[in-house]
Parts: sequence; structure tokens; C-alpha cells
Amino acid sequence: MAGYTPGETTVHTSVTDIGRVTRALRKTSRPVVLVPTMGALHEGHLELVRAAKSLPRAVVVVSIFVNPLQFGDDADLDTYPRTLEADVEKLRGVGVELVFAPSVREMYPNGFRTTVSAGPLSGELEGASRPGHFDGALTVCLKLFNVTNCSDAVFGEKDYQQLVLMQQLVTDLNLPIQLHSVPVIREKDGLAMSSRNVRLDSTARQAAVALSAALTLGAHCGDRGPGAVLSGARSVLEAVPEVEVDYLELRDGRLAPLPENFGEGEARLLVAARVGEVRLLDNVGVILGDLQARQEKEIAQAALQAAGLDAELTDEEMAELRRLRDEVRRVRGRRDSTE
Ligand code: AMP
Repeated sequence: MAGYTPGETTVHTSVTDIGRVTRALRKTSRPVVLVPTMGALHEGHLELVRAAKSLPRAVVVVSIFVNPLQFGDDADLDTYPRTLEADVEKLRGVGVELVFAPSVREMYPNGFRTTVSAGPLSGELEGASRPGHFDGALTVCLKLFNVTNCSDAVFGEKDYQQLVLMQQLVTDLNLPIQLHSVPVIREKDGLAMSSRNVRLDSTARQAAVALSAALTLGAHCGDRGPGAVLSGARSVLEAVPEVEVDYLELRDGRLAPLPENFGEGEARLLVAARVGEVRLLDNVGVILGDLQARQEKEIAQAALQAAGLDAELTDEEMAELRRLRDEVRRVRGRRDSTE
């Protein structure tokens, strides 16, 4: 097939060419799996590629495009690292067959005209200091989905808000695409891998580890509630003067604010901070509440269900079950000691 040689890496720069190749591949019933990137590839990106390749019969397309529409700040756009040749070598190394690396003119021949509006969440967290960023990111990804005819796309949890908004785009606009996510890939000391890390000088590089350290400590405080999570994380960040925090927030898994009386469940702790000249992001999943209590409740509910009873359990009923369990333990303990 012209423009596609199995086992080799072909780089396309034209919308028409990549469209023709991927359309033909879809006709052979193979899933086309897109991994959108802005290049300057590192091990985190390659992990996304591995996840893409693990889908049965997948043809993987990695796009490399530094999207001007999602940069508010011209200086940030100008200094964003661009390493296309080295990127293609890395992709060849992990067996990527199709790379799509268009120019800005190729992607936006008519300038920035019709765009996606990403909704209320796009003005919060990252969006609060980067107006228009998510509209730009969603617009370019929607274009890339269309141009590459992809059936699947892979995103990293590193940009957790982007991942949530991307799922929102797929759901709200009924896109016939399945999204997959990959956890944050980290350096040995915990720093989340990022193309921007190369711009950290040695002092900033050392200070930057405070972000992941803060999130780890915060996540370990989950059993003591949201306040403890936030104050634990904040104490680590405040101890490192080079770290200038933009936000540190605890939200639910879909990034809605946590309700006042949020008891148990999964949440996300997210941080953005300027370290030296570089703005860094990181996030981690947090289990809030008493995990042991939650597991006990789940076991009790499973037992009720198995007995054909209503599995709903109030706090009072759960407390009564715990009291009975402790009573059984006490009686057995007495029996064992007299045997
Ligand atoms: P970028 O090139 O920064 O736009 O990132 C492209 C994709 O790679 C996005 O889906 C990111 O979330 C993902 N990504 C970047 N760094 C990491 C990382 N350290 N771990 C997991 N995914 C990542």
C-alpha cells in the first residue's frame, strides 16, 4: 500500500496522504490507534505508544504537532522543544509504522476559524491561568481524530484535566472513538516525565521533585480526609522556596469540586507550579476515607447479596455488624483459650 510499509516507519506531513493510508487500513478492519503528541518525545510518550500497540491488530499513528492554538504565551510556544529527527528515531525503535508531522499551515490552512468550546471545566485549574488552552487542545485533537480516521486514541494521565475533557468531547459530540489512558510515567526520583523538564537547570531540577513528593505524602493522608491530604501536600511544597505554586487542589475523579460531606471514594490531587523558568504539572489518585472500613462494608454487602437480602447498609447496620463480629471474636477467643 502506498504510504504504508508494514514493519517500517513512514512519516507523513500531508493531511491527504495520512487520510488515504489510514482509510485504507480501516477498510481491512484494523483499528487505527492515534497517539497525539507535541514531540520532544520521552519515555512517557513511548509508554503511550506501547499501550496503543498492545491493542489487537493495531496500526499505531503518532502525531507530532506543536499546536499554536493551545499556547496562550508566544514565548512558551517559541521555546517549546522541537526534535523531530530524534523523535522519529525513537518511534522507529518502538516499532511505530505511521508518524504524522504536519506543518501549522497544513493543519490550519484557513487560520483559526471554527473551534471547539470545551465547556465550564476548561476555565478551571489549568484553564484558569491559560484561557483558551483546552479549546485549542480539543480542537486540534478533533481534527487529528478526523484526519487520521482513528478508531482509538491514547492519552496520558499526566495531563489529567485534558484527559477528562477529551472524554467529554468524545461523549458530548458522539465521536466513534474509544479513548485509553496511561498512568503518569516518572523519573526514578518521582518527577513526572515532561518535554519541559529539559529546560530545568540543576537547582530547579532538584527542587522539582517536591511536586511528586508532595502528592505522594498527600495521597498517604487520604484516610484522614481531604483537609489532611491538602495540608500534607502543602507542607512539602512550602518547604521548597524555588517552587511557586499556582494551584494545589483535591477534586473528584471527574474533576468536579468535592462535596462538603465527601466521605469515602476516589479523588484526584492536582498541582501546578512554576519551578525556575518552567511550569510543571502533576497529579495523583487519592483514596479518601477509611479504606479498611470501606472494604469491610463491601464484604458485608457481598454476603447479604449472596444470602438473597437487600445489600443496602446504613451506617447503624454496619456498626451493628461490626459489634457482632467483635462479639464472635471474643467468644471464640475464650473458647480457644479453654481448649
Ligand atoms: P505532550 O507531547 O506533552 O502533548 O503529551 C502527549 C501525550 O503524552 C499526552 O496524552 C500526555 O498526557 C502524555 N504524557 C506526557 N508525559 C507523560 C508522562 N510522564 N506520563 C504519561 N503520559 C504522559
